[in-house]
Amino acid sequence: MEDPPQMVEQRRSMVAGQIRGRGIRDVRLLEAMQAVPRHLFVPPFYQHLAYSDGPLPIGEGQTISQPYIVALMTDLLDLQAEDSVLEIGTGSGYQAAVLAKLARQVYTVEQHPSLVEKAEKVFAELGLDNITAVTGDGSNGLPEHAPYQGILVTAAAPHVPQVLLDQLDEGGVLVIPVGGYRGQMLEQWIRRVERFEHHAIAPVAFVPLRGDYGWKNDWPY
Ligand code: SAH
Repeated sequence: MEDPPQMVEQRRSMVAGQIRGRGIRDVRLLEAMQAVPRHLFVPPFYQHLAYSDGPLPIGEGQTISQPYIVALMTDLLDLQAEDSVLEIGTGSGYQAAVLAKLARQVYTVEQHPSLVEKAEKVFAELGLDNITAVTGDGSNGLPEHAPYQGILVTAAAPHVPQVLLDQLDEGGVLVIPVGGYRGQMLEQWIRRVERFEHHAIAPVAFVPLRGDYGWKNDWPY
C-alpha cells in the first residue's frame, strides 16, 4: 500500500503537534494515529489538507472529524486489545480504522450507503479485516453484537439514547456529543455495577445524529 514519505512526515508532525502536544499520552493510541493514512479517507480534492488541524467535507453533507477530536474520543474509550467496539457514524471510515488498530473487533453503522461503500474500499485496501460496516440507523445501536466495551457516537444526539447505554458491557464506556447546532458537549458515560457514571468533557461541533433517537429538524447549516 502506497504511503508517500511526505504523508508519513505530515502525519508525524500532526501526531507530535496536534495530538501529543495537546496532552494525549497513550502510546498505543499515538502509534495508531501514526499508522492510519488519513489522506486515503478524504476526497482527492482535499488530500493536501488531510493532516491539517480541522474537519474536512467527505460528501453527503458530512465531515471527517478533526484529528485531535478523533484522538480525544478514542482516548476516552480506554480500549483494550481484546475489546469489541461499536461506532455510530462511519462517515469516511477514518475513526473506525483508528479503532481497528486498538480493539479486537469494530462494528460501525452509517446511514448513507455511498459512504459505507467508500469506507469499505479503503478498509480492504489497508487490510483492516476486523471492521464490519453496516448501513442503517445507528441511533438504535447494533443489539445483535452487544455487549460492547466501547461505543463511540460521531454525530450529535439530542440526548443520550438509553438503548446505547443498554448495549454497554459492565465497565464499558459510551462517548457521545450531546446537543444541537447552538452548542454540544462531549460526554463520557461509564457502566458501573448498578449505575452509570458520567462526565462532561469538552464543547464540540458535530453534524446531527438522525434516525429514531436523533434530530428530526433541519439544522441551519
Ligand atoms: N466518524 C466519521 C465522521 C462521521 S460524521 C469519520 O471518521 O469520518 C457523522 C456521520 O454520522 C455522518 O456520516 C452521518 O451520515 C452519520 N449519521 C448520522 N446519523 C446517523 C444514524 N442515525 N445512523 C447512522 N449514521 C448516522
